[in-house]
Amino acid sequence: MNETSREIVPKLSNTLGISEKDLKKHLGRSIRLMKYKDLEYAVFRRELLGFREGTTILLGEEPFIVHGYPSIQRLALLEGVRKHMIDKVVVEEKMNGYNVRTVYYEGKIYAITRGGYICPYTTSRIRKLYGKNIEFLYKEYGNYVLVGEVVGTENPYVVYDYPEARGFDYFIFDIMDGDKLLPLRIKREIAEKYSMKTVRELSVVDKNDISSLRLVINNLEKEKREGVVLKDPDHRVPPLKYTTVYINIKDIEEGMRYPFDEGRGYLFSRIVRLIAQGYEYNWNNDELNRIALKLGKAILEPAIKSLKQRAEGEIIASSYILVFYSMGDLEDFIEFLESLGVEFITRVLEEREEKIIVELMKMKETHSTYSKMLETGYSPLD
Ligand code: ATP
Ligand code: MG
Repeated sequence: MNETSREIVPKLSNTLGISEKDLKKHLGRSIRLMKYKDLEYAVFRRELLGFREGTTILLGEEPFIVHGYPSIQRLALLEGVRKHMIDKVVVEEKMNGYNVRTVYYEGKIYAITRGGYICPYTTSRIRKLYGKNIEFLYKEYGNYVLVGEVVGTENPYVVYDYPEARGFDYFIFDIMDGDKLLPLRIKREIAEKYSMKTVRELSVVDKNDISSLRLVINNLEKEKREGVVLKDPDHRVPPLKYTTVYINIKDIEEGMRYPFDEGRGYLFSRIVRLIAQGYEYNWNNDELNRIALKLGKAILEPAIKSLKQRAEGEIIASSYILVFYSMGDLEDFIEFLESLGVEFITRVLEEREEKIIVELMKMKETHSTYSKMLETGYSPLD
């Protein structure tokens, strides 16, 4: 399935400038060899040899390195902006979806996820939606990599409805040249020229103007949006991310549908974010009561509901609605999920000439943990 050719190891060792012997030490573990259609590529599963995690090396005729998108420092306190930034701060909306780097390579468009994998589903949707725009863009800017967020309800990773996205859409937030992020002005110019959507630029503030920043965030709270990414206009210092109280609680609520999967990992980090918000916004007693009730419900309600569903014999799995344009696309995607070791089932819901609508169910650890709990009555934790 994911067999790779003989030439791939020498080609990769050449590209990386290390011996085949050294390369082989990393293969399978830190560096994974993959294949999508005829294109072989390597994925950096962690930071290594000076490359970021999520770096992808496309191994066609002329190898091309798609550097990982840098991890963004999270702010707990908005006040931190003063210390971190230089002067002006561009306040961009942080959209809640998944990170996709788009490249045009040897005549084709590829969509690469945060982890460095070419996602066949995302690739096919982006080709259909923006194929022409991206092709023209790359005639002018061949070496750049577009980085953006795929959002909406029709994807296999993050389901979050945006009125402006209608099912599936792609919003660019940065352009990379090698491992560097280009000034935001260039991103805006290029995106505009080739009619690609970008995340919203909400404001430009002085780094000491925390009250203006807070106004922007209050608005996002009201609109139930995820948050902001704060950027130096020229990326002279790394960006910062900050999320709303709303999404911090909403994430917990989503995650706690599967307490032994996402739930576990989500809880403490989100609580820490809320602690900082309670302190910095100086919540009064009414606010504390209101938020504490929301938080408590977000923790318990979905988890109890899932347990009840399991008790009634339902499968505990997360469900996604996907749209494919051919059976071949669907097969490629299934093969991709299998190669990643994801446990899942798919079900064709509707098959028309031009599109196939599929339900994807990803199995959850919570399914078996809850099953055992219900069978024995024992708690899975002390
Ligand atoms: P990180 O990517 O920082 O390691 P993470 O994978 O948990 O952490 P998030 O907490 O969602 O990701 O925050 C970073 C991500 O936010 C980016 O990788 C990107 O996918 C997404 N994002 C959404 N909007 C923007 C934006 N305007 N600028 C930069 N990133 C954005
Ligand atoms: Mg995200």
